Amino acid sequence: MTKQCFSYIKSGAMLKLIVNTLPQGESSFNFIVEPAQIGVENLVNEPISASIVVFRQNKEVDVRGTLSFVLCLECSRCLERFTLSVEEEVTGFYRVPEGEVKGEEVVLEEEELDILVYDGEVVDLTGLFRDTVILAVPLKPLCREDCKGLCPYCGVNRNKEQCKCEAEYIDPRWRALLDIKFDEEGGK
Ligand SMILES: [Zn+2]
Ligand SMILES: [Zn+2]
Repeated sequence: MTKQCFSYIKSGAMLKLIVNTLPQGESSFNFIVEPAQIGVENLVNEPISASIVVFRQNKEVDVRGTLSFVLCLECSRCLERFTLSVEEEVTGFYRVPEGEVKGEEVVLEEEELDILVYDGEVVDLTGLFRDTVILAVPLKPLCREDCKGLCPYCGVNRNKEQCKCEAEYIDPRWRALLDIKFDEEGGK
């Protein structure tokens, strides 16, 4: 295994592998990607560290490795901004599309879901890296597992303050009903 950087990545411009310059077999690379290079500057504000192994067999290029980065998120309960360190696996198998369908039986392995097509000359990692970062964003980010969220009445961040509404707190799922029945009191 060798450790080196792509010169073109070093220069900060692009994440492109010129396939015929890659050695046959395995090579490994560690490098830094600026979030803006892959269009995720809204999600990540520190450089992304990439550690990948590239396996080339003629025009077939397999990329596996990890991306380490820090996501900037907003908590879905208390709306505070927070950061989350993530290490995500990255896999992409680059193939040149074949002109004709072979008569052979095709057995789809799990891995083949990661197949990406390219023109046979340049493998561009930009999309793979961008997707990896975007897919790492949780659907409902939480600043912490037990985040108490905002008070539905006065809006204070209940991780930081305790308001007086607390005693009369009503499950927010019932609030919609209370809103409909204007003339009823919300109970105790
Ligand atoms: Zn929170
Ligand atoms: Zn309150």
